[in-house]
Amino acid sequence: MAQQHHHHSEHAGETLVEAARAALTGAGEQWTGMRSDVFEELARHERPASAYDIAENLSKTRGKRVAPNSVYRILDLFVSNNLAMRVESANAYLANTHPGCTHDCIFLVCDECGEATHVDNDDISKAVRGVAQGADFKPERPIIEIRGLCAGCR
Ligand SMILES: [Zn+2]
Ligand SMILES: [Zn+2]
Ligand SMILES: [Zn+2]
Repeated sequence: MAQQHHHHSEHAGETLVEAARAALTGAGEQWTGMRSDVFEELARHERPASAYDIAENLSKTRGKRVAPNSVYRILDLFVSNNLAMRVESANAYLANTHPGCTHDCIFLVCDECGEATHVDNDDISKAVRGVAQGADFKPERPIIEIRGLCAGCR
C-alpha cells in the first residue's frame, strides 16, 4: 500500500461488515436484511464473486430462490457507495476492504486461479485520471487491472 497520506484502514470479518453498514447508512441508504446477507456472502469470498454465484449460495442459506437480478442490483448499489468493487476483467465483485475511503484500486488478477489481489497507489491513479482530463474527458471510474500469475501459481 504505497503513498498513504490519510488515515486508511483495511477491515476484515465482522469489522468489515460493520464498516460497510456504517458507510451505507451514512450515505442515507438502508441496511436491509437482504443487503446485509449479500454483503456477508460477498465478504466470505476471497476471490471475485459473480452476482450469479452469490445468488446461488444465498438461495441455499435462505432456503428460497434468490434471483441473480436482485443480487446484481444490490451489488450495483454497493459499488456506487464504495462498499464493493467490480473486477471488470473477471466480470465479478469483491467486498471493498476500505469502505471508509475512496481509492481507484488496482487489481492484480491471476489468470490461473482467479485470485484478485488489491493494491492502492494514488500516484498512479492520479496520473491515469490526468491523462483522461488532458483529453477533455471526465474520469468517473478508472479501471486498472493487471492480469498475470500469482506467487502460488508460478
Ligand atoms: Zn485510504
Ligand atoms: Zn483500494
Ligand atoms: Zn494464482
